[in-house]
Amino acid sequence: MRRKEKRLLQFAGLLIAALLFLPNVGLWSLYRDRVFDNSPDTVDGPGGIPIIQGLNRMGKDAQVGRDGVRRKDWHDYEAIKRDASRSGNGEQGKAFPLSEADRVDQAYRENGFNIYVSDRISLNRSLPDIRHPNCKQKLYAERLPNTSIIIPFHNEGWSSLLRTVHSVLNRSPPQLIAEVILVDDYSDKEHLKVALEEYMVRMPKVRILRTKKREGLIRTRLLGAGAAKGEVITFLDSHCEANVNWLPPLLDRIAQNRKSIVCPMIDVIDHDNFGYETQAGDAMRGAFDWEMYYKRIPIPPELQKEDPSEPFESPVMAGGLFAVDRKWFWELGGYDTGLEIWGGEQYEISFKVWMCGGRMEDIPCSRVGHIYRKYVPYKVPGGVSLARVFTFGWREDVRVGDPMHTKKVCFDAISHNSPVTLYDCHGMKGNQLWRYRKDKSLYHPVSNSCIDSSPTERRVFMNTCDPGSPSQQWLFERTNATVLERFNRGNN
Ligand code: UDP
Ligand code: MN
Repeated sequence: MRRKEKRLLQFAGLLIAALLFLPNVGLWSLYRDRVFDNSPDTVDGPGGIPIIQGLNRMGKDAQVGRDGVRRKDWHDYEAIKRDASRSGNGEQGKAFPLSEADRVDQAYRENGFNIYVSDRISLNRSLPDIRHPNCKQKLYAERLPNTSIIIPFHNEGWSSLLRTVHSVLNRSPPQLIAEVILVDDYSDKEHLKVALEEYMVRMPKVRILRTKKREGLIRTRLLGAGAAKGEVITFLDSHCEANVNWLPPLLDRIAQNRKSIVCPMIDVIDHDNFGYETQAGDAMRGAFDWEMYYKRIPIPPELQKEDPSEPFESPVMAGGLFAVDRKWFWELGGYDTGLEIWGGEQYEISFKVWMCGGRMEDIPCSRVGHIYRKYVPYKVPGGVSLARVFTFGWREDVRVGDPMHTKKVCFDAISHNSPVTLYDCHGMKGNQLWRYRKDKSLYHPVSNSCIDSSPTERRVFMNTCDPGSPSQQWLFERTNATVLERFNRGNN
């Protein structure tokens, strides 16, 4: 009897030990799966099994909010600890010490950023946690939708593309990633073919799709979106790095309102040294000017939140990086398939969202780094203009240089005999409103006079219109007669 009791006690003890220990082993193996340290250029953190405190790897316990939603702390503290212990080139998002040999043109030519440097930084490199301190305390719904991550690429560098994938898988809760879809937009680089497929065999969540011809960014994203199975689709560029706990804050907003399209804050990965930094001026939101130039402007004080780490609305998204409920994306009609290569798509989708009862938000607690290139490395087929997309008919001024650019000076005149001066373009018509007429004169409606010139005195000035006078004739290289005609008819 006593011996039987002893056996029972021993057995119970073993059971308890197993219960306490086995889940950790389970979690540990899960954790191991997510570190892809078998890539050749990886820098390892210190080895050894990490200490897991208790069973609650996620830290704080879940809380039930007033709305009845259970929320929890989604931070992966083990991953954070692991990242903190890493050292080496580019670790903690530090700038790589560039030598003169690293700065050669060749390093930038193919990608528009320094691929030599990228190749020497671990695919699993650590990043600084530059979120607002409040982000560390935030809880998000325990039940979040999963997402397909869609990454279009055209001739992307090997290490920059893989670092994007690694960072996503390393810094996202696995249950929230339905899949990662890499969509190849007809690249011709060798490393993006068989080698990429072979590499991805070890990452069962990653799928590779390929376009049959060069489609441009929009149709390539659409191909990925059409194949996606996740409840949410998240678009990223092919040269990004997801930062700590980036995904739950995005998905949480969509869980609350499926018509919210959410954007992470986009940090800057330097194209020379790969240093990771926030953009200048964080309390900014997306906007555009009358020439459809996207810019970030300060959030008006009345709209600023008491807690600057809370999501805020934005009229337009920046373009490349956002998450959207998959069904809602298609209800919106996806993207206009007529959009070429690059540019303008963010307006199209943003306007549709607002017009269809949705909203657009920037999420300060979600941060993703993006390499802003030095220049665009790829060819744009047929010379399709990049920012072609919108012009406003009433902004008919005469400006110097690239007509699409904002910071320009315009022809300006104040009266029928004043000199013609150059003044900052204000886009408000008035003194800067000109009409280019069939007789090649430049008419100034405000003063009812025309631009005249004196080649000998080398000046231009306003004068009474004199049709046929050679000194009042101006030749513009390219004009659209129909548009001009319509414009001149519409404005007196
Ligand atoms: N891209 C593409 N096809 C193209 C041009 C670009 O698939 O014809 C991809 C590119 O690899 C990147 C994304 O679309 O993942 C956005 O392009 P890019 O990074 O050049 O734009 P930027 O960030 O410079 O605005
Ligand atoms: Mn990009």
